[in-house]
Amino acid sequence: MSVPDILGQHDAARLLRAALRSGRLPHAYLFVGSSGTGRLAMGRWLAQVLLCQRKVEPDECCGECDDCVAVASGRHPDYREVGVPAGKQLLPIETIRDLQRAASLKPVLGVCRVFTVTEAELMTIEAANCFLKTLEEPPGACFFVLIASGLRQIPATVLSRCQVVRFRNLPPDDLQRRLEEQGMDPEDAHWLARRSWGSPGLAQRLGEMGLAAFNRELVPQLRAMSLEDNFRLSDWLDGRAKEGAASGPKSRAALQEVLECALLYYRDLALAAATRGAAAELCNRAGEDGIRELASGVEPDAFVEDAELVLETIEGIGANANRRLALDRLFTGLARRRGTAN
Ligand SMILES: [Zn+2]
Repeated sequence: MSVPDILGQHDAARLLRAALRSGRLPHAYLFVGSSGTGRLAMGRWLAQVLLCQRKVEPDECCGECDDCVAVASGRHPDYREVGVPAGKQLLPIETIRDLQRAASLKPVLGVCRVFTVTEAELMTIEAANCFLKTLEEPPGACFFVLIASGLRQIPATVLSRCQVVRFRNLPPDDLQRRLEEQGMDPEDAHWLARRSWGSPGLAQRLGEMGLAAFNRELVPQLRAMSLEDNFRLSDWLDGRAKEGAASGPKSRAALQEVLECALLYYRDLALAAATRGAAAELCNRAGEDGIRELASGVEPDAFVEDAELVLETIEGIGANANRRLALDRLFTGLARRRGTAN
């Protein structure tokens, strides 16, 4: 079984295959990229290649032997995935100590042991320091794959002992196609792929929040906004953010996600104003005619300033501002600006 065909990750696959063929696989990899880009699938494939006892080529696994099947189903005694324990926010030192104990034992079936640490960026300082000892003196027949969404929270000492493999976000058109294949309306898929910057994991999360349907309601309301109904708009938006929060994200984070939709709308307006009917691609396909009409004859700066107001509000919400006051201030500001612009 060759490297899995994970959408958009040819560079990562090429790097791993070259290392396997050279016979000089580093003891620790750090797979970095946003969720849904195939980091764990690639880690499992690497474990299969390392543990498969019927492989013919050094960079392939058979995909069918007991070892391959056991890794795929998470039951192989020489393969273990660890991450943040249920009910915890961070990856504690106890989890890393368990991993170290297992790593110090001889392989049960295969010739090596493989460990995957998901959400490695959530390791506590103590856990990271503890793990560092293992990376400094890796037990003979062990390989580690750390999976993280960013490099910033990984201590430099840990980072310097891992080979980093980047998993890229998808080109928006590719993600859009995938969302359409999952049954999403093409206009919604177009918007969501761009709203999530090509990150499949973010697209899934925002999709579960119902953000595409929300955006369809939001755009006409922003377009028709007037000073008389700005408080009603605050109420509505705050209510929708609270509904969105029911699907997982914290309430403030949900409000920020909802406001990011408004940010994208003003970005589209600025782009339409700046390109004056040229074929610049807008994120909002639904309502595109209305956006182009509103933008015609207006300087793009006006919409850039609208976007800045939204951005300030998003930052304020993140910094614990009173959410209702922040929303009222935002919509009053936007409506007033619209009033003087028209
Ligand atoms: Zn196999």
